[in-house]
Amino acid sequence: MDRKLLLIIIDGVPLRNFRRLFGNLEGWVDSGEAQRWVHRAVLPSISASCYASIHTGVSPQVHGCTGNGNVFRLAQPDVFSQVRKAGGVTGAVAHSFWSEFFNRAPFDYVRDIEYDEPESDTINHGRFHTMTGYGLINQMTPSDVDLFATLTMLCQRYGLNYGMLHTCTLDSMGHRFFHDCQEMDHACAVMDEMLAPFIPKWRAAGYEVIVTADHGQDERGHHGGRGDLQQLTAMYYFGEGRGPERDTEIDQLQLAPTILSRLGAELPETMRGEVFLT
Ligand SMILES: [Zn+2]
Repeated sequence: MDRKLLLIIIDGVPLRNFRRLFGNLEGWVDSGEAQRWVHRAVLPSISASCYASIHTGVSPQVHGCTGNGNVFRLAQPDVFSQVRKAGGVTGAVAHSFWSEFFNRAPFDYVRDIEYDEPESDTINHGRFHTMTGYGLINQMTPSDVDLFATLTMLCQRYGLNYGMLHTCTLDSMGHRFFHDCQEMDHACAVMDEMLAPFIPKWRAAGYEVIVTADHGQDERGHHGGRGDLQQLTAMYYFGEGRGPERDTEIDQLQLAPTILSRLGAELPETMRGEVFLT
């Protein structure tokens, strides 16, 4: 596999907060380095169900993850497994749900917190965190710059063809403070500024980069149901592919087949979403 791509999922960022507060990403849209679309989450628009759909390309009604309390090893082919079949190397820096969905469940704190498994059929290089004890007062999230650095280290050390990073910081902040307040203005700006220096480095290393969220949040910090605030987020793409017009709505189920097509991996017949990059 010659192609390389990184998927950065910033959990729980409604479209309007990406547009209003991520000045670096928006600046790259204006200067032509990035293309931006609207990304609509599946229903339920709850985190675990969305993670499963983002990577399998099938709806929650098919993969069966009904919410954060129902996490198990999924049965469908996914982005990691298809990249492995095509000979690529995969890595993930993420919440432990990603390891349970796509590698093995239940999550064993010692065995699964960090692994390097070159022969794996799914995730070769995993660095996970569980957020055990998470609540309104204590977020239990790592610093985002540490996560971005860890992904960069995996790329450099193991030559990842596909790397996925997921961070819950803004989702946790949004549940606590809601989305139209000084705390969220600041948190989004910090995220944008922490992420920004990594993007040119990843591009220089030959990676295409997609930055998006799994879902939005409404004015009370809620998501899981229907509605533009809960379901809509932005998707930014840095790379040589050409997508549809700016702000075209992309269905969440289109992401997995599009990533595989960029990497030159085979699309399983379960992934029916239309590829949006050529
Ligand atoms: Zn989420």
